[in-house]
Amino acid sequence: MISNKQLFLLNNAQTSTSPNLLEIDYAEGIYLYDKQKKPYIDLVSGFAVSNIGHRHPKVIDAIKAQLDKYMHLTVYGEYVQSPMILFAQKLLSVLPETLNNVYFVNSGAEATEGALKLAKRYTGRSGIISCFNSYHGSTHGALSVMGNEHYKQAYRPLLPDVQFIRFNEEAELSMITEETACVIMETVQGEAGIRVPSENYMTKLRNRCTEVGALLILDEIQAAFGRTGKLFAFENFGIVPDILLLAKALGGGMPIGAFIANKEVMGVLKENPILGHITTFGGHPVSCSAGLASLEVILEEELVKDVNKKGELFRTLLVHPLIKEVRGKGLMLSIQLDSFEQVEKVSTLCRERGVVIDWFLHCETAMRIAPPLIIKEEEIHTVCKTIINVLNLL
Ligand code: PLP
Repeated sequence: MISNKQLFLLNNAQTSTSPNLLEIDYAEGIYLYDKQKKPYIDLVSGFAVSNIGHRHPKVIDAIKAQLDKYMHLTVYGEYVQSPMILFAQKLLSVLPETLNNVYFVNSGAEATEGALKLAKRYTGRSGIISCFNSYHGSTHGALSVMGNEHYKQAYRPLLPDVQFIRFNEEAELSMITEETACVIMETVQGEAGIRVPSENYMTKLRNRCTEVGALLILDEIQAAFGRTGKLFAFENFGIVPDILLLAKALGGGMPIGAFIANKEVMGVLKENPILGHITTFGGHPVSCSAGLASLEVILEEELVKDVNKKGELFRTLLVHPLIKEVRGKGLMLSIQLDSFEQVEKVSTLCRERGVVIDWFLHCETAMRIAPPLIIKEEEIHTVCKTIINVLNLL
């Protein structure tokens, strides 16, 4: 009989020649279980999605309750659908008051697309500034602002008028000018191998954008919802973006993205011409119900409170001659090794020992540590022991 693995390789489009091929039977909390019921501690969280853990009961209840009412009704922006309204209300209540209008979409990449269009439309300018080693999604617009030529050269021509600056380099902020519609930046760079900017840099970035009338888009698709020790990563730096991008953990495990701005800015999408951004499934009722439940869990269970303490515990325990550096903020961490070969070996050996760990798109010499925020101290001890034991075998 043909196995699921073989079927996957045969019928499903592949994104690389070396897929992970782990087959999960079910997932709960911080654990993934394979077909043989072997548990794995998930240090990847489906790439910063499962911040509250897999299959939180309150999220499951919210999904089931919504399934009993309706699923898709019509395209985004027409009918009055309570899951979307309630979710927007809750989300905006935890954001600064200038971020008071939310457009729900399907994914991170679509949030990027919507935000870039919004900035061009609002400012009447076409210049876009992004950062080297950034990642904002894989669609054409998002690819245009990705700071890694290797992944985009085959798809040119891409969007014109995009320039790149080095992340956290103050001198390069002068490239932001009166021609710039927007600067798009990850508040903490993820796929670059977790790079945290200085508070001073972020203040200067904010000031420069304000000075020249460029909109500041902060991409927190990976960094939001407690991952960096604050509900939103920009709170670490005392600044507020003009447009905030969310996805991944936004849906508590269901697919949804959002771009959030001031109502006056967002208003340009609705006229001259109308339908400035349209999307069939944006703000899907089931995803919004799950997202609302997930946000309530984060707030009610105070999941952000201990994130920095847990991050510190990882840093204390992850000491080894082969570890060059542990970078990051809260539970958005990376372990810097020497080579991709080491990273691959550690990843394979950890997996054999029940710990799932991964690397980064633009930094293959570092390992990703992004567990669900609910990970307990004893579980952190367990995974760090596994990682250290594995490093001892290299
Ligand atoms: N922005 C950042 C910072 C991301 O990490 C990602 C995905 O990894 C995206 C955007 C794109 O999100 P999606 O895969 O939902 O399109």
